[in-house]
Amino acid sequence: MQLNLKHSFTTELPSDSITENYIRQVKEACFSYVSPIATKKPELIHTSSEMVQNIGLTKSDINSEDFLNVFTGNTVLDDTKPYAMCYGGHQFGNWAGQLGDGRAINLFEVEHNNKPWVIQLKGAGKTPYSRSGDGLAVLRSSIREYLCSEAMHYLGVPTTRALSISLTGDEVLRDMLYDGNSAYEKGAIVSRVAPSFLRFGNYEIFAARQDHKTLKTLVDYTIKHHFPKLGGPSKDTYVKFFRDVMKRTLDMIIHWQRVGFVHGVMNTDNMSILGLTIDYGPYGWLDDFNFGWTPNTTDAQHKRYRYGNQPSIGLWNLYQLANALYPLIEDVEPLENILEDYKTGFETKSLIMMRSKLGLFNDESDDIKLVQSLENALHLTETDMTIFFRLLSNFKKDNSVHGFQLIQKAFYNIESITDPIKKQWYDWFENYQLRLTKEELSDKERKGKMDTVNPKYVLRNYMAQLAIDEADNGNYKLIDELFSLLKTPYSEQPEFEKWFAKRPEWARHKVGCSMLSCSS
Ligand code: AMP
Ligand code: MG
Repeated sequence: MQLNLKHSFTTELPSDSITENYIRQVKEACFSYVSPIATKKPELIHTSSEMVQNIGLTKSDINSEDFLNVFTGNTVLDDTKPYAMCYGGHQFGNWAGQLGDGRAINLFEVEHNNKPWVIQLKGAGKTPYSRSGDGLAVLRSSIREYLCSEAMHYLGVPTTRALSISLTGDEVLRDMLYDGNSAYEKGAIVSRVAPSFLRFGNYEIFAARQDHKTLKTLVDYTIKHHFPKLGGPSKDTYVKFFRDVMKRTLDMIIHWQRVGFVHGVMNTDNMSILGLTIDYGPYGWLDDFNFGWTPNTTDAQHKRYRYGNQPSIGLWNLYQLANALYPLIEDVEPLENILEDYKTGFETKSLIMMRSKLGLFNDESDDIKLVQSLENALHLTETDMTIFFRLLSNFKKDNSVHGFQLIQKAFYNIESITDPIKKQWYDWFENYQLRLTKEELSDKERKGKMDTVNPKYVLRNYMAQLAIDEADNGNYKLIDELFSLLKTPYSEQPEFEKWFAKRPEWARHKVGCSMLSCSS
């Protein structure tokens, strides 16, 4: 395997002076050197050939012994020294202190086609940051991360990527629902890839410890490598840096809202400094459109990370990052202005996003009302988000097929459509039709545009679960089918029409489909 290795993180940032692998608080260091553990019987299940090529490998490398051994942590490449990063975080609104890569190990950095990448294994054993965990990952959560991160990329949502998924051959003990019923599950490792895995929490930890020296070193490193256009180290550059992170975070969350993705654990340790969707845990996809929904049972009581709350949580998390950067800037005002701009930016951008979902491109003052009345209507009775928006693009300006008839398939229970609900839909379609008269595009052109923002296929929770159930029995065909389906989520793909369907009734209350915990 020929790779263009780089070592910026480990050579430019301070390392933990202790190299033994035991649980501890790591001070004044950004990372600790640590080796992945050997696995019993590594077996490659799937690889993303696009990512393989992106990092500078060839498709034929995939079949080599080296590929299997390197991306399961059984071989450490010459001239590389794997490491785990130190970070902290606010979890569910409270400062949690040091967290760190408890079961993620960074293997190496590469540069290919002028792009930097870090390759990281998730589930390759304990690190100094593992706290009470075992550093391992199970097959079900690994499949969920592997499939979803690539699917998000093809949907156009900023995200970390996945290179491969493998079985380790080891058994891992998990209490899946945190209810005292532990069981052994198959161990797995995802090798994932991103320009950087730095999170808000990487900066917060040094601010919390009042280690402003390391904080500055890390911020300067981040800007130099990932935000080079902002300029050299100065207070002004740090403010610009925060503004850039704010914009990326906002854009990412608007994309989540557009496709109906609920992250599930938006703790600050799960917020990428590059504005990438990161750490696919108890995430979920909206079936019926519901601002109050979260897939995460650990958050069932307060639903802090529910769909409709994601934009506000993005802001809350940015406040924590602003606090962490404050010691380098020592001026509250520019930081507050940026946080204010997040709020106004959200109003503007989410309206543009919703307009695009409706095929509206002119700026009309009443659009906000049209959007709100649609959101109200979608909540009246269970209405499938993906199906609704995809079918809506078939609407004709002359209403030759009534809009309400057109979107019927999106309703979960047609019997629940009472006369008042029906009336609300009729009213909405009347307003929509009226609004469309102010647009220049033809029906066909509008449909073309709408179908590029309203995906036909997303990784519904039950779909991932079906792939998991089959994989548990040693059959990986569905992983491959879904991987391939989700590479072009906006195209019709008639051969996959069976996946353009509502969540089946059996999946409504099934573990893994509607209920997920942080156990992974
Ligand atoms: P998460 O909620 O998955 O983002 O994890 C929060 C923190 O717990 C991170 O520091 C993880 O590295 C750590 N963690 C999660 N699961 C494990 C595990 N099985 N072993 C060690 N650390 C873990
Ligand atoms: Mg995490």
